Amino acid sequence: MDKIGTVYLVGAGPGDPELLTLRAARLLGEAGLVVHDGLVDPAVLALAHPDAELISVAKSRARHTLPQREINALLVREALAGRDVVRLKGGDPFVFGRGGEEAEACRATGVPVEIVPGISAALGAAAAAQIPLTHRDHSSVVSFVAGQCKGLTEQDWAGLAGKGRTLVIYMGVKTAPQIAEKLMADGLAPDVPVAVVESAARADMRVLRGPLAALPALVERERVKSPALIIIGAVTALDDAAVQTFALEAQA
Ligand code: SAH
Repeated sequence: MDKIGTVYLVGAGPGDPELLTLRAARLLGEAGLVVHDGLVDPAVLALAHPDAELISVAKSRARHTLPQREINALLVREALAGRDVVRLKGGDPFVFGRGGEEAEACRATGVPVEIVPGISAALGAAAAAQIPLTHRDHSSVVSFVAGQCKGLTEQDWAGLAGKGRTLVIYMGVKTAPQIAEKLMADGLAPDVPVAVVESAARADMRVLRGPLAALPALVERERVKSPALIIIGAVTALDDAAVQTFALEAQA
């Protein structure tokens, strides 16, 4: 029987190549074919083998360059042709990365698939902005939600944010006004501290803070760009510098 290649779903982390796992860096350096999405930092792609073929299947919110089923088909086709494929995804492949669908497509066609975890944006942003997602005095629960994706209004976030809890929202920049409204309608106080971390773990990172009620204005005034995360809860206002910015934002 002809050799079947393996598909490696590899997490590229939030940007800084130093945040790759050793396994991710090794696979990337050895791969003949790298299929990557748009969120992967060029500095990470630079670690690919010089002779590797790089295929971008970049997605943006409104425009899907390659529909998911075509990405799945591409991975399967190349593996069945005998090539190992590194499918490089921003952050972690199994956190809002549709890695589950790609793994299913491989399994359904008998293609061996392996998952190499990466540092998800929530963890990268928390570290870079020095926001502990849990803290014995402030938060013992942390949740990850998607602020876009399938119908924001249909998602039940009740109880995910508030006292003693941290809520991390992926893909929430465009829907920040609806998010703030939704959370306050769920009973969250307008002055709950919020941080927006733009381009976490990259050279152009920005951390913006303010009260929940001011989130839409903050995003608009600062022209927050994707990729960015919204973190909600007391842990975003722990250090002195943060609390000062928070007070300023609250007055603005
Ligand atoms: N699989 C990825 C998430 C993909 S969804 C992961 O585990 O991180 C894309 C969303 O991730 C973006 O809209 C943004 O909210 C977040 N994101 C990814 N990289 C980021 C970064 N460097 N800084 C801030 N947010 C980021």
